[in-house]
Amino acid sequence: MLDRPLLHGFTVDVEDWFHILEYQGAPQPDAWAQQPSRVALATDRMLALLAQHNVHATFFVLGWVAERHPDLIARIAEAGHEIGSHGHLHRLVGDLGRDGFARDLDASLAAISKASGRDVQCFRAPGFSIGDEQTWAFPILASRGIRYDASLFLANRAHGGMLLHRSRPFDLVLDDGRSITEIPTVPRLIAGRGLSYAGGGYLRLLPMWLIEQSFQAAERDGTPAVVYLHPRELDPEQPRMALPPVRRFKYYVGLDGVQAKVEALFSRHRFGPVSEVARHTPRDRPVHIGAVS
Ligand SMILES: [Zn+2]
Repeated sequence: MLDRPLLHGFTVDVEDWFHILEYQGAPQPDAWAQQPSRVALATDRMLALLAQHNVHATFFVLGWVAERHPDLIARIAEAGHEIGSHGHLHRLVGDLGRDGFARDLDASLAAISKASGRDVQCFRAPGFSIGDEQTWAFPILASRGIRYDASLFLANRAHGGMLLHRSRPFDLVLDDGRSITEIPTVPRLIAGRGLSYAGGGYLRLLPMWLIEQSFQAAERDGTPAVVYLHPRELDPEQPRMALPPVRRFKYYVGLDGVQAKVEALFSRHRFGPVSEVARHTPRDRPVHIGAVS
């Protein structure tokens, strides 16, 4: 069935340098508009990099960013990329609760559709924050027309994280028979332990040989990787927040090397938006949402 090389996902969470989760010292939403914005500049760098290598990606846009930078969202759409929602105010799903989640989602979908001129069919929760306790989010997502989700990180995490035994995209089947296709982030198993390698701090921190070896293992196993990056990861000159030492290290390590790593991956592997990954990969077993919790 797979006579072409495996298609991996390439995703960008479109948010600004100060959209950090769970740090009290970060600017609060009512002060965001006063911050020096870097998101358009950094996202344009990402668009140029993708165009140069003829790669299409999924951009999960924060609704707040779409409201303030509609031209940027129009440029992303015009370049032929897939556009999804990353929520409106970058809040963890569990903190929002059901009603708050629905309101935040609706605000983001309105802003993103207006800016992009398209219906939004893809979603990623801030911080991958859908875990076993937040599966109520899926019926809400389905009721708003979301068909593809990339919020599940199949490993233990500070928030979110779900220990499902799946290695490829699968259908999340809801009680009413509707379904959403999940394109999960799947760690590489090494001697029974999971190694995350394809996005954010992991991609910045790990040496290229280990990342490359992990992509080759993923291709042997038929498990697509899902690269996730933020515009700020192509912006080494961004303002630095006064984070505690460990957090500071994780947030800012390796910014100088991201572009070279991405270009190395583009030269050796195939990437596309999440909906295309779902179409190109044989589905894993479905998950019934009632049975998860
Ligand atoms: Zn985010």
